[in-house]
Formats: sequence, structure tokens, C-alpha cells
Amino acid sequence: MAKITLDNLAHSYLPKPAGEGDYALKELNHVWADGEAYALLGASGCGKSTLLNIISGLLHPSQGRILFNDHDVTAQATAERNIAQVFQFPVVYDTMSVRDNLAFPLKNRGASPDYIRDRVQAIAAMIGMEAELNRKARGLTADAKQKISLGRGMVREDVNALLFDEPLTVIDPHMKWELRTQLKALHHEFGHTMIYVTHDQTEALTFADKVVVMHDGRVVQMGTPQELFERPEHTFVGYFIGSPGMNLLDAEVSGTTAIVAGTEVALGADYGRPKGRIQIGVRPEFVTLAAGDTGLAVTVRRVEDVGRHKILRYDFQGAEINVIAAEGQAISPDMTRLIFDPRAINVYADDWRVSPKSPAEEAA
Ligand code: ADP
Ligand code: MG
Repeated sequence: MAKITLDNLAHSYLPKPAGEGDYALKELNHVWADGEAYALLGASGCGKSTLLNIISGLLHPSQGRILFNDHDVTAQATAERNIAQVFQFPVVYDTMSVRDNLAFPLKNRGASPDYIRDRVQAIAAMIGMEAELNRKARGLTADAKQKISLGRGMVREDVNALLFDEPLTVIDPHMKWELRTQLKALHHEFGHTMIYVTHDQTEALTFADKVVVMHDGRVVQMGTPQELFERPEHTFVGYFIGSPGMNLLDAEVSGTTAIVAGTEVALGADYGRPKGRIQIGVRPEFVTLAAGDTGLAVTVRRVEDVGRHKILRYDFQGAEINVIAAEGQAISPDMTRLIFDPRAINVYADDWRVSPKSPAEEAA
């Protein structure tokens, strides 16, 4: 197992990158702690696979270094890095049995036959393929082949890290949950450094203790699910995570007050006078409906009943503001005002979160 350090890393697929826009991975400094399980979350095309393939050595970065436990492995080939990687689509040996496919990484490393037999049996149980161990991989469904790929990825206990690149894409929904649970169990048992790539926030938030969010070739935040929810460091994290995501409104901010299209909104802390394009962000969970004449005057666009709660979509001067209202909460036609919980408001300048001036307020 290893701590993995990315030092000044960047990658462009072009031979002569001109500007930042030519980089699939923009300059990145990041440490993956030894033995932690991470989810790497971001929309399609943001650079997740590029980053994973650089860590495993399938791709050589155009700039920077990769260190395993402070040892520079940038020039090392994939095999030398001692890593297990599972891809989106199955990679199996068709002419081998399921058993031999699973045993392959262990045989390769010269493990004893007894150990191989026991370990293959344990992995087959984890992926639910004990009954098929003697079948050839050829002729199995894509789903079954992907389970073999996952099993092969998990079979070795002595790897530096386990990398999963959207491994459950071709797996049916019920089995997805089951396999994710198995991966978590594996992590508890062996404590590997794990990086699990996904574009699905639910998968990311349920799999990992730490979620690394990527956007447009950049890591924009690493945090616990709670941190990503309460204090998104970038507007992308705000609206990508949550359902619906954070409301973002253009504003002028001065001290403890924001002005949004002429209406004053109280903030939970003193933000000074931030420069750039200023927005305030508040999650739909922290907006309440009110009658009377304080708050933002809105008109309702749509009400969606999603079972446990309602999503109310409002129009405020052409901008949409979403509100989550608990099931059974009385909503009357005279409630045409929205009030934001000041402590739940974040302020953004050019998409990045502004730290408030008084640290005491921030901790509250
Ligand atoms: P993700 O895995 O998050 O979907 P990728 O890392 O695959 O994203 O891709 C990041 C960017 O790099 C995308 O714009 C993609 O089109 C580009 N890209 C990926 N692989 C290659 C390649 N082999 N050659 C050129 N461009 C690539
Ligand atoms: Mg990818």
C-alpha cells in the first residue's frame, strides 16, 4: 500500500500544447493518503481516466512527477508500479476458465497453489461466481465478464493501490449495490489505497469517506460528503452535488449583506468586498417559504412531488431558485417570499468560495 503524491502534474494529448485549454489535466498537486478509499467524481470528459491512467503508468504525463511513498515512479512502467486497475469494460482471457482468470495475477507473482486456491475461492464468493469457476470466460455475459475483471483487480492483497475506472457501468443495477458493498468490505479488510472513479454522485458519496471532485481538468475540491454539501469550494461542486444542486445568484456583496437584484439578503459572516463575478450560493434545503414582505419576491414555476419531499421551483427576476419542502409542510398561495438561512449561504468570486473575515463565524 502506498501514499500517492502528484507533484506539479499536468497532461496534454497534443504534442505542442499552446494554452491551458489544450490540457486535459491542468496543473495539479495532490496527495492520496495511504490506505484511504477515495471516490473521484466528475462529469464525463473532465479528465478522470486521464488522471487514473497517469497514476497506473498507462499514460506518461507531459509534466510533473508521481511518487509512491515518496519514491519517484514517473519513469516506471505499469507492471513495476504494482497496481491493480479495473476498467469500465471487461478485460478477460476468453480461452481461460473463470478460475484461471482470477488466479492469473497470483500465479504471475509466484504465489503458492494452496494460497491461490483459497484466495480464488474467497474472491469468487465476493463476486458471486462460485458456481461458474470451471467455465470458460468465452460465452459469458458482459456483466459476468466484468465481475471477473473486478475479481482479478481485487485478488492480490499486496498491491500499492487499487484503481477502479467506472467499473460498474455494464453491471445491472441490483448487482451494482452488491459489488460496491463488497469493495467497501475489501477496503475494511485490507486497507488498500483505493481510487474509485465515477460520474454518479450517489455512488461517490456512498462508496468513499473522501470524495475528490474534478471539473474541466482540475481537482476543485477534496472533502467528506458533508464538507462538499455544506461548503462547496467551487460553484461546480455546489450544483453538481445535491438534488437539485445549490442555488446560485449573482449578487453584490459588502460586509454581512448581499444585494440580489435589488433585494437585501443577510449573510452569516463578514465577507468584506470581494472582487470579480460575485455570486451567493444556498442549497434548496436551507430556503424557506414565507408570507409577508421580507425576503425575495418570487413566482412559482413548478412543484415536483418526489415522495419524501417536494421540490418547488421558483422564478426570481428570471433566475431559478429551488426549494426543498418537507412532506406535509403546509404551503399556502400567499407564501410568495423566500428566506435564506444566513449561515447556510456561501459567497463565490469567479466561481471560487470566498472565506469570511471572522474565523469564529466560519466555525459556527
Ligand atoms: P473522463 O474519464 O473524465 O470522462 P478523460 O480523461 O477520458 O475524461 O478525457 C479528458 C479529455 O481528454 C476529454 O476532452 C477527452 O476528449 C480527451 N482525451 C481522452 N483521451 C484522449 C486521447 N487518447 N487522445 C486525445 N484526447 C483524449
Ligand atoms: Mg473515463
